[in-house]
Amino acid sequence: MRITVLSGGVGGARFLRGLRSFVQAEHPDASITAIVNTGDDMWLTGLRVAPDLDSVMYTLAGENDEQRGWGRIGETERVSSELRAYGIGWPWFTLGDLDIGTHLTRSHYLRSGMPLSEATALITARWPLGVTLIPATDDEVETHVVTDQGTMHFQEWWTRHRASLPARSFVQQGVDAASPAPGVLEAIAEADVVLIAPSNPVVSIGTILGIPGIRDAVAATSATVIGVSPIIAGAVVRGMADACLSAIGVETSALAVAEHYGARSVGGLPSVGLLDAWLVDESDAASVPALEALGLRAAAVPLWMRDPATSAQLAADALALARR
Ligand code: GDP
Ligand code: CA
Repeated sequence: MRITVLSGGVGGARFLRGLRSFVQAEHPDASITAIVNTGDDMWLTGLRVAPDLDSVMYTLAGENDEQRGWGRIGETERVSSELRAYGIGWPWFTLGDLDIGTHLTRSHYLRSGMPLSEATALITARWPLGVTLIPATDDEVETHVVTDQGTMHFQEWWTRHRASLPARSFVQQGVDAASPAPGVLEAIAEADVVLIAPSNPVVSIGTILGIPGIRDAVAATSATVIGVSPIIAGAVVRGMADACLSAIGVETSALAVAEHYGARSVGGLPSVGLLDAWLVDESDAASVPALEALGLRAAAVPLWMRDPATSAQLAADALALARR
């Protein structure tokens, strides 16, 4: 079985960790490929920072800081405090010392002319991740946020302003000239199951789908396409993704996000959406009939990824829905 997952950072990482543990126990022959958002990436103090790729890598490697929710375990911030003393970089965006090691390595490869996908393969080879990570694109496509106080990089809006400035729109700078990284379209076309992780539908999944060719590949794949709701009982689980949803006029509900992705077929007729099936939390069970009316196979199961065991059970439920 070939499983391909579209993933953002923290939500995607937790889901992938659960999926890997379920697959290793129940489907040891299966392979997992994650197509990871790169819209949050940026150059900072001369380094290429790729937050979502690194969140996924650290989590799958068991190197993530579970308490804080992001970054490396046992991290220190000596270099960041020196950068602040010199007055360079973003004082509100701390790069941990161990994390800087990753950024230095990535920047070294990129400056030697290597595409991000190859650099990612070399960097992730350090750990037995059990999941192949591919950036959505090798091109620099960065999410910028248009607000009344000007247009800024997504990280500035998210981390510095805590998503509190009303967003007028999200712009993928450079997207028109971008193409999917090598292996991305194949991973979608040749999969048996495509999973849309419970990641931010706008700036994680939306950014991946915005790379020319990727949305069409998902719409056209012969794989079953299953999404897991990042919204539980009308609220985001961790973070501030509701601010992104309201900016694009989508209500913060499991049903509205499913409607936003859309169904691939309605009443047996082809439609313009992406999903065959959608998992919602038990607390959203009442929305199952409405989801079925949209043309989706739907089920209500526990969606809170509290620990590796609950994440693995969620992955099992997603694959069971794919087979149903
Ligand atoms: P980011 O790039 O670090 O923001 O992470 P993602 O885009 O992968 O995921 C962010 C989304 O994950 C948020 O919208 C959350 O609602 C969702 N999320 C986080 N934890 C959970 C969880 O335990 N269960 C579910 N269903 N969604 C979650
Ligand atoms: Ca992210």
